[in-house]
Amino acid sequence: MDPIKTDIVVVGAGPGGYAAAFYAADQGKKVLLVERDASLGGVCLNRGCIPSKALLYATHQIREAKESEERGITFGEPKLDLAKMREWKSGILKKLTGGIAQLAKARGVEVLHGKGYFEGSQSLRVESDSGQIMVEYDKAILAVGSKSALPKPWDLGNPRIMTSRGALEIEDVPEKLLVIGGGYIGMELGTVYAGLGSEIVLAEAMDSILAGADPDLALPVAKYAKENFKEVRLKAKVKSMKTSGKKIAVSMEFNDEVLNEEYDRVLVAVGRVPNSADIGLENTGVELDERGFVKIDNRQQTTDPNILAIGDIAGGVMLAHKASKEARIAVENIVGEDSKFEDVVIPAVVFTDPEVAWCGLTETDAKKQGIKVQVGKFPWSASGRAITFGRTDGLTKVIVDPETERVLGIGIVGHGAGELIGEGVLAVETGATVEDLALSVHPHPTMSETVMEAAESFFGHATHVFSPKKK
Ligand code: FAD
Repeated sequence: MDPIKTDIVVVGAGPGGYAAAFYAADQGKKVLLVERDASLGGVCLNRGCIPSKALLYATHQIREAKESEERGITFGEPKLDLAKMREWKSGILKKLTGGIAQLAKARGVEVLHGKGYFEGSQSLRVESDSGQIMVEYDKAILAVGSKSALPKPWDLGNPRIMTSRGALEIEDVPEKLLVIGGGYIGMELGTVYAGLGSEIVLAEAMDSILAGADPDLALPVAKYAKENFKEVRLKAKVKSMKTSGKKIAVSMEFNDEVLNEEYDRVLVAVGRVPNSADIGLENTGVELDERGFVKIDNRQQTTDPNILAIGDIAGGVMLAHKASKEARIAVENIVGEDSKFEDVVIPAVVFTDPEVAWCGLTETDAKKQGIKVQVGKFPWSASGRAITFGRTDGLTKVIVDPETERVLGIGIVGHGAGELIGEGVLAVETGATVEDLALSVHPHPTMSETVMEAAESFFGHATHVFSPKKK
């Protein structure tokens, strides 16, 4: 069979790859999108962002129903139908991944399902169900993403030792679930299973959960975990795991003791590793760093002049919207624009209960880097809107350069924080001052007012909190 010839081949159809393919087609390029899975959308749509958020939404309803008792509305005990829950979740994924396929078709992006393997700097072999297909291209965009890390000694072939992928299947509700890792994935999925009724023990090797979030923002999440998990163990080290009948026997060092316990399931959420092995990169000029991520410059260019890389495979923050932003930068460089990943604000959201969201500079990073900042804070206990829905366990803060009064960062913890951080992104990205935020009239009663009032509190005159006078 003659090789397929194309301007651009995109390998991997996650939020990086499909965004790159679509944008390149919009720019008039002939594009081939190669994906080894049966459905498009990558980790994010199939086994990451979307299914986890769907399940968090579902289990949050249980909490809402319980709490509504104090508002004079009482529901009975929730009954779980896991088969129906899985079906509902699959329906969401199908709708979204099908939508991506339709958008590809509408744009004239050719989709080829199969595993891509580089034979050279400008040739890719695709192992598809209908045999091997050769592709010759001008430029390739590598967007093959990452997978959950599962340390070898724990990889016993026992499906009850799960990564996030298995956990999202919700095969059953384990009575006792050990979650290893207090990062965002461990905390989000721990929240799902706690909502479903599992007894959660969380083991984190570091001395805090949600490393990366400012401590005052992580605090309400730690409080939630303390109340809703059986135990949160910090500085805990899992030493070994083995199958013991239907249980997993775990040995763990904690508080100078060795604990030997049995769990029904274990969720390993200790990080993600790049999918850079076994795709023929040794046949190209692409170089990897010591952790296996593809080395790129700020134009997404790898060390091979014909190959660019975006998303998780290129390292940095491993988030879907970072992958999609890099997709645009890669395509812009291919079509001859001078586009760089510089001063780009990438927000982070942890969809726990409450949610944590931040963008730009954090207080922790300012301290580490010796940057002088001033902070305006607004506690949600003073927000009328937060009181109406009974979630005053939140905080909004603006991190400001005291010289120029420019907003350097925004941090929010509270119910729906992820929906609010967009305003922070706009403020930081457009170089807004704290006065701009304070002077912008925000609708009442909404949680967006907390951004305005945090800015006002920087000046010492937030309406709903008393601040000592600013000199
Ligand atoms: P991926 O989404 O990993 O896609 C890579 C694609 O490449 C895959 O479809 C894969 O099958 C394909 N592929 C790999 N090798 C080959 C090959 N040789 N040939 C052909 N195809 C290949 N991020 C957020 O921003 N928000 C969230 O809320 C969020 N929640 C998450 C929850 C979980 C449980 C997990 C695991 C991740 C979450 N993420 C979240 C992270 C997010 O999913 C990733 O950052 C994002 O999917 C990365 O996109 P990508 O395009 O780089 O790669």
